[in-house]
Amino acid sequence: MEKLLELTGARVWRGDDASVEALRGVTLSLHEGESVAILGPNGSGKSTLLALLAGALRIEAADGAGCRLFGEELWDIESLRHRIGLVMPEEVSRFGPDESAFHVVLSVFRGAYGVVPGMRFSMAERKAASRAVDAMGVEAMVERPFGCLSSGEKRRFLIARAMAHDPGVLVLDEPTTALDFAAAAGLQRVLRRLLKRGRTLIWVTHHPGEIPPEIGRVVMLKEGRVFADGPKRDVLTDRRLSRLFGLHLKATWSDGWCEVRA
Ligand code: ADP
Ligand code: MG
Repeated sequence: MEKLLELTGARVWRGDDASVEALRGVTLSLHEGESVAILGPNGSGKSTLLALLAGALRIEAADGAGCRLFGEELWDIESLRHRIGLVMPEEVSRFGPDESAFHVVLSVFRGAYGVVPGMRFSMAERKAASRAVDAMGVEAMVERPFGCLSSGEKRRFLIARAMAHDPGVLVLDEPTTALDFAAAAGLQRVLRRLLKRGRTLIWVTHHPGEIPPEIGRVVMLKEGRVFADGPKRDVLTDRRLSRLFGLHLKATWSDGWCEVRA
């Protein structure tokens, strides 16, 4: 399997004055073809890790520290976009309310947040956008203004947008955050369908109960460090979960799902 991300002792400082150490020496490998859940409390560095994966941030230069994407230390952000589809829920606010839902998806081919007059798309691009929309089960809503969709529908269109290039890896930052129960369950269902069809997902969450049975590996992040990494059953133990979230937790398993209670 090709290495997707290879971090060695990676440190990342964030903030305008680089005063926050968001990753504090992370060594981690992710591979194409292997779906992984990244689990950790708020502020543990999950989104920062994804920003490295998307080529949007760089690590602090230091002896022995390294960050390779697809085996390369230097990468072209444009070609990366074709290989990694990243979905950040906050992207929702970047589209005008009157933009059609289909244009939200289509505009990814121009690296834009919406379609402006004069933008042209090939038939192949339109077909690819339609395929991604179908995969997310929102084909009936393509003509609707994006601003009129529910949060769950918007989230599905954003994922379709990230899938339109047919990237090898789909990276989802807390995809069900702020969705109601039905919308979260619906999204969970379509994401499981993608996993079953063999798509590689990197799924960031702070809910262990959200990790579907098809994802076999869990990486726990705590205070900017890898706290645990391995097969799901070995990582999601009462002891590790309790230490990760800082309260006494108990995990029970059924059909490959882990339910966690305080
Ligand atoms: P998570 O996604 O796990 O909630 P993040 O990677 O977003 O965590 O954040 C890790 C740490 O870096 C947190 O302490 C957060 O406050 C800080 N941080 C993240 N982004 C910024 C930013 N743009 N400016 C300042 N601090 C930031
Ligand atoms: Mg985050």
